[in-house]
Amino acid sequence: MKVAFCSSEVFPFAKTGGLADVSGALPLALSEEGCKVKVFMPFYKGISPQRIEEDLGVTVINNNLEIIFIRNDNYFMREGLYGSVRGDYSDNLERFSFYSNKTIEVLKKINFSPDIIHCNDWQASLIVIYLKTKFKDDSFFSHTRTIQTIHNLAYQGVFDREKFSYLGLSEDYFSLKYLEFYGKINLLKGGIVFSDMVNTVSPTYARQIQTKEYGCGLEGVLQEKGDRLIGILNAIDYKVWNPSNDKFIYKKYSLPSLEDKYINKREFQREFGLKIKKGEFLLGMVSRLAEQKGIDILSQSLNYILKKYQVVILGTGEEKYHRILKVKEKKYKNNFSLNLKFDEALAHKIYASCDAFLMPSRFEPCGLSQMISYKYATVPIVHRTGGLSDTVVDYEDKGGGFVFTEYSPKALIKAVNRAYKVFCDREKWLPLLKEISSYSFSWRDSAKNYISMYKRCQSLL
Ligand code: ADP
Repeated sequence: MKVAFCSSEVFPFAKTGGLADVSGALPLALSEEGCKVKVFMPFYKGISPQRIEEDLGVTVINNNLEIIFIRNDNYFMREGLYGSVRGDYSDNLERFSFYSNKTIEVLKKINFSPDIIHCNDWQASLIVIYLKTKFKDDSFFSHTRTIQTIHNLAYQGVFDREKFSYLGLSEDYFSLKYLEFYGKINLLKGGIVFSDMVNTVSPTYARQIQTKEYGCGLEGVLQEKGDRLIGILNAIDYKVWNPSNDKFIYKKYSLPSLEDKYINKREFQREFGLKIKKGEFLLGMVSRLAEQKGIDILSQSLNYILKKYQVVILGTGEEKYHRILKVKEKKYKNNFSLNLKFDEALAHKIYASCDAFLMPSRFEPCGLSQMISYKYATVPIVHRTGGLSDTVVDYEDKGGGFVFTEYSPKALIKAVNRAYKVFCDREKWLPLLKEISSYSFSWRDSAKNYISMYKRCQSLL
């Protein structure tokens, strides 16, 4: 099966979040299952392809997998992927329209006529939209089916109506049935409407987004997809996330040498100026600092938590939360390590060094950090929502994490205290660490589910 996999970020070439992890690992797993995959992403600053041509770059990963970087230096040779500290780039519609048009053009140029075009998030939605409008009678794509994957419904690619003419589509498509959304252009909506199938990244989130509470205004459009909307759980790449083979951490460890995890904890505390005290409970968080991630309830809990425990946060995001967290950092210097940046190496150290990992997300399409934490024998403390519901079962129900249901600081604190109580009992904590570090969320299984979806898509008229 020939697959064109389109994503605006792909690990290790460019990453701002989980989309890159998925786009780095899933195509590889698909290629290992025998699919012929070409990944299309923009040619950003800092990327060095094996081969560079006038309008693209190419890196060959294996016989079945190639990354094609769509080139336009004016649009993509910038510091950020989507924006700067001042906000989103004002020409994002133009940038991703260029990327989409060019991807289709390159497919034809290299004579790769895909069975499936798999488009991820709003940045690739125009590929679906163009295929079903401008290219609908093109015989090159007559057997091609399209998939729109939603990694986070909160980001839809919404632009002012004035930009519509830039898309090169008939005005008929600026209507409620297609791209219009409260008087604006909504690219993800177009991707959903036009694609043959839609999926999101966990079964629970697939159900949630069809409700008013989580649908971000698109619940009706999503409901209309019926059984053409499914949830496929993400996984993690154990070649990247594995404490027995992690070049970033202080001391490698695995199930038989689990005590070495504590060497990581001690070294971390030393390097980051946290007080070293026997029995200290160290909680970590690696996250975008956005409302979605539960930073509001965490901020409100921090006074309580930092009086009793230690916390390390790595993340960037909303200025408001940077300010709030900086105040706490001053107040609780010995117990709080705050790192307001994106830092892959530090993320690995945190997963390895902490006792427990915080994911109080208000909503969570899938979440990768809880799966990464398991592998590093770091116990996740999560809000019961989306993919977190599908991957974390509470300790009291014989699971490997601590789950709270009500979205409130009080419920979060209660879960942290419950985790601490088990942490204090070595007879319980060590078996728990052993159990979670043996959990497996492999891309091989998820890739098989994607291939089943591709096959179903092919059978659709
Ligand atoms: P998102 O909603 O951001 O995609 P996920 O849990 O799906 O959340 O994936 C987050 C990924 O990004 C994980 O690999 C996590 O370790 C990484 N990450 C998030 N913030 C940072 C940061 N500041 N520095 C390094 N890695 C980060």
